[in-house]
This record gives sequence, C-alpha cells and structure tokens, in this order.
Amino acid sequence: MTDCLFCRIIAGEIPASKVFENDRIIAFNDINPQAPMHVLIVPRTHVATLNDLKPDHDALVGEMTRQAAALAAERGYATSGYRTVFNCNRDAGQAVYHIHLHVLGGRPLGWPPG
Ligand code: 5GP
Ligand code: ZN
Repeated sequence: MTDCLFCRIIAGEIPASKVFENDRIIAFNDINPQAPMHVLIVPRTHVATLNDLKPDHDALVGEMTRQAAALAAERGYATSGYRTVFNCNRDAGQAVYHIHLHVLGGRPLGWPPG
C-alpha cells in the first residue's frame, strides 16, 4: 500500500526511530509521544483496522502484544505499569489506517481515557 504511512515506514521510504523489528513486526517511537515511552508496534502486513482482522492474524496480534510487554519490561515498567492501546476508527481517533499497538509508559496514565 504505497499510500499508507506505516507501509512506507516499513519499506524504509520514511525514516522512523526503530526500537525492534523481526520478519513480522516492527516497533518505533511515536513522532508525537504522549508519555516518556510511546512506542508503536506495527505488523509488516497491511491491515487497516481491528475490524479487518482474520483468524489467520491471531498469532500476529499475540506476538504484537507479547512484544509490547517485552519492550515495556526493557524500560523497567513491568511492575510500575504501562498501557497498550489499539484505536479503531473515528470515535477512537484512529489517524493511521494500518493497525498499530500503542505502548505508553513512564508516567501515571489516567482512566478513563479521554
Ligand atoms: P492513531 O491515532 O492512528 O491510533 O495513532 C497514530 C499515531 O501515529 C499517532 O500517535 C501519531 O503521533 C503517530 N504518527 C503519525 N505520523 C507518524 C510518523 O510519520 N512517524 C511516527 N513515528 N509516528 C507517526
Ligand atoms: Zn499499511
């Protein structure tokens, strides 16, 4: 998807501050961080929203979630806590239509979210 921002980051056409990558996922720092840690975990395959997930994606989403925990633990937030968020569509404020898991940590995070 050449018109997709995250596909272009994955392809190396747009730079990003990568913190992890393997054959299936990449993780990079959010350009507009909302907490001391704000990483986006992104599958290399283009899936527009959570509504488009298929059973074949189950392992991929599991890996994204486990990688979120691993990256938060690396930063020392395993015990103090952190938040993972998938925004889906307009009311959640999804701005990039390629699924991504936000991982936020390093400060107390309010609940409920805005
Ligand atoms: P959404 O609102 O779709 O859940 O989140 C999209 C996120 O992507 C936002 O937090 C936004 O700051 C981030 N973002 C948008 N453009 C770029 C970019 O070019 N590079 C990086 N690293 N993050 C971006
Ligand atoms: Zn994409």
